[in-house]
Amino acid sequence: MTRLQNFIGGEWVDIESHQEEVVFNPATGEELARVPLSTKEDLDRAVNAAKEAFASWKEVAVPKRARILFKYQQLLVEHWDELAEIITTENGKNLKEAHGEMLRAIECVEFASGAPTLMMGSQLPSIATGLESGVYRYPIGVVGGITPFNFPGMVPCWMFPLAIVAGNTFILKPSEKTPLLANRLAELFTEAGLPKGVLNIVHGAHDVVNGLLDHQDVKAISFVGSQPVAEYVYKRGTQNLKRVQALAGAKNHSIVLQDAHLDNAVTQILNASFGSAGERCMACSVVAVEEEIADDFIDLLVKKANEITIGSGLDENVFLGPVIRDEHKKRTLQYIETGLEEGAQLIRDGRTDQKSQAKGYFVGPTIFDQVTSKMKIWQDEIFAPVLSIARVKNLEEAIELTNQSRFANGACLFTNHGGKVREFREKIDAGMLGVNIGVPAPMAFFPFSGWKDSFYGDLHANGKDGLEFYTRKKVVTTRWV
Ligand code: NAD
Repeated sequence: MTRLQNFIGGEWVDIESHQEEVVFNPATGEELARVPLSTKEDLDRAVNAAKEAFASWKEVAVPKRARILFKYQQLLVEHWDELAEIITTENGKNLKEAHGEMLRAIECVEFASGAPTLMMGSQLPSIATGLESGVYRYPIGVVGGITPFNFPGMVPCWMFPLAIVAGNTFILKPSEKTPLLANRLAELFTEAGLPKGVLNIVHGAHDVVNGLLDHQDVKAISFVGSQPVAEYVYKRGTQNLKRVQALAGAKNHSIVLQDAHLDNAVTQILNASFGSAGERCMACSVVAVEEEIADDFIDLLVKKANEITIGSGLDENVFLGPVIRDEHKKRTLQYIETGLEEGAQLIRDGRTDQKSQAKGYFVGPTIFDQVTSKMKIWQDEIFAPVLSIARVKNLEEAIELTNQSRFANGACLFTNHGGKVREFREKIDAGMLGVNIGVPAPMAFFPFSGWKDSFYGDLHANGKDGLEFYTRKKVVTTRWV
């Protein structure tokens, strides 16, 4: 059984800790590897390596750094199939989704390859007679990244390519549930010519996170994960006077109006709710549908949900893979019970799908009707293939309902009415909106911009926000005499 190693200072090193967790294939329950939970000492070694590497890496000319990113992009494309297979094996999502995830990761590297343009400052040649000012952009130092299980490829690539091309050095603490891909990403970056110590991987859990949050040589933290941990990371990191961006949990709503293209709305919502087993921070978990078309919408949704193939994501034509762990399956089944106790109407019961009885951690597509905002299944992020439907009178009521959520990552509207699109855009509380699409996840050059309890911080991941987060500026004012 493989025991994972850390990647520190360009070397694979054994982890001293005796504490370890098993990495499972969630489709079969088989053990894939063991991941030791690094100690503070393991982390300190990585911080020292990253600090040492920073001294020389920040001096490397920006186009030269970018060239390594170009090479990295090529290698990721060459190894696309292999990387997607690792994702499917450790996470459970189907191969097509894993390919899509790697595309999103590659786009992050492509965005970062534009560093010479991104890193430019700006000048004003005359701020007063004979006086000029200019802004110059610099890296901040050692950056720590802490990532969730659901996107082992894309989410780390939101962070380290941009941070590194900006001249920082990086320590990635991948999810202990899906730690395998990170090691391969580091190997390929090294093959692309990245100097030792610029990217380090430290496997583990709480101790490594706390170590990163407390270490005085770590200048910034990028976190993506669940809401309680994001809040904790933000508070502890900022208390230690670090820059922190913490992307958190979600409960995303879709609104379907009576003039919507029904087939498109159902197809998009089906994918957004049950794709990746509902384990996306942009998953659709509530639909507010106008009463006039609610029955038609639900009939078609259930019909299409019945056609979903459940199984191992490695098998062709499988759409719905397992959830990540047996405990997560049990938690999901508990939520289904809660929904019933709360009086919601279970119109498709994923517990009865044959595959749900198999060894892997499968839950079939589950749909509740007549859900209200008082219910826990409406309020909580279940993070599984469980969809709630609420019937509403009109757009106004749908917006009012959606805005009651404490979360505000994404929201979608299905309609062809321009004025309603505008009303939705102006009045909805969410940072990433979709019109007639189900998963409005922004591409790498736009910020991933959750609101309310879906995000803590100022500058979001990706795009110009990401670059701002990983850099600091000098303003130089000069009088030539
Ligand atoms: P998680 O919060 O359990 O874990 C995230 C990271 O935090 C992991 O690396 C984990 O080791 C660490 N961690 C967990 N508990 C900790 C604790 N008590 N103290 C210190 N560190 C701790 O999240 P997850 O289950 O891996 O991922 C799913 C969550 O991530 C969902 O809530 C999802 O919405 C969210 N997510 C959000 C976004 C976004 O962009 N907003 C993107 C992807 C995932």
